[in-house]
Amino acid sequence: MNRQIRLAARPEGFPQDSDFELVESEIPKPRPGEVLVRSQWLSLDPYMRGRMSTARSYAKPTEVGEPMTGQVVGEVVESNDPRFAAGDTVVGQLGWQDYAVARGGSLRKLDPALAPPQTALHVLGATGLTAYFGLFDVGKAMPGDAVVVSAAAGAVGQIVGQLAKIAGCGPVVGLAGSAEKVEDLTQRYGYDVGIDYKRDDVNAALKEACPNGVDVYFDNVGGALSETVFRRLALGARIPVCGQVSQYNLAEPELAPRNLGFLIVFRARLEGFLIYDYVHRFPEGLARLGRWLAEGKLTYREDVTEGLENAPAAFIGMLRGENRGKALVKIR
Ligand code: NDP
Repeated sequence: MNRQIRLAARPEGFPQDSDFELVESEIPKPRPGEVLVRSQWLSLDPYMRGRMSTARSYAKPTEVGEPMTGQVVGEVVESNDPRFAAGDTVVGQLGWQDYAVARGGSLRKLDPALAPPQTALHVLGATGLTAYFGLFDVGKAMPGDAVVVSAAAGAVGQIVGQLAKIAGCGPVVGLAGSAEKVEDLTQRYGYDVGIDYKRDDVNAALKEACPNGVDVYFDNVGGALSETVFRRLALGARIPVCGQVSQYNLAEPELAPRNLGFLIVFRARLEGFLIYDYVHRFPEGLARLGRWLAEGKLTYREDVTEGLENAPAAFIGMLRGENRGKALVKIR
């Protein structure tokens, strides 16, 4: 049998267990051109909260009763596409389930000899590419730039800090929500300074860490925290707006940041971006990330939950900041 985790109800505020249901069904049969994949790893990402809602977005919402959307690494069981054979390891948008069929063209084959296959869900996948294009293309980070990153110990943030150091930026400063995460920032990911935004005076700490202002603010969270960083920008600052996770679970989004006047003071540029606009440059990003990983210049931390049935709790925990590293579910 196949097991799927479906959207049972649209959440109000933070999702809860009752918004998900575990349903058993037949294992699907691949038609011509399709491939049957058995899931091994599921990626948990903040964007999934957006799919649970009908609020206007860049992608269609998941319908109530449909499996939750999600990227999966898995093993090909049966293939009706000549490009794939049973036993191949692939990555694709296969959803929260044990088995899925997909068009061959929507899957990417992985070489498990190059890197652990689940890295295709983070450092060698969407979150690594988000860090790479967000920092260098949108943020235009240059050697010597002072870089500040929010949600800095998360999946995207841990890579942004390391890429900024590889590029010769500094100081590189991370904002995170616990003492353990702040320790990871400086001990594992090479950040020069870690700030616990829940306990520290962020404005004072940024003033000390970046006395000449912040050249690049890689914003993963939005809200009041970003409002504080805007006060400390440098002239000509760039702000890649990657995510607004502080707002995703609010019934009434905050009206922060309210102090956009600082963008005038500092002639700063605030720019939202979506990683899928960079698909044509993914080979470049993956080649660079893969080389830095192989050279030992990049590291990562995974936060692994065992069992598909535990995915909803792990997802809710990730939205609450309980993940220490990239949130993954090991399905098999
Ligand atoms: P993370 O691994 O960073 O997990 C989310 C983290 O957000 C939590 O661990 C928590 O860390 C932090 N957080 C939650 N609530 C708040 C809050 N109220 N204020 C501040 N921080 C909060 O997730 P990802 O790395 O996968 O994603 C990071 C961001 O990047 C998200 O906003 C996501 O939507 C965005 N994204 C955007 C993409 C794009 O194409 N634009 C692509 C991929 C991701 P802490 O304990 O430090 O608070």
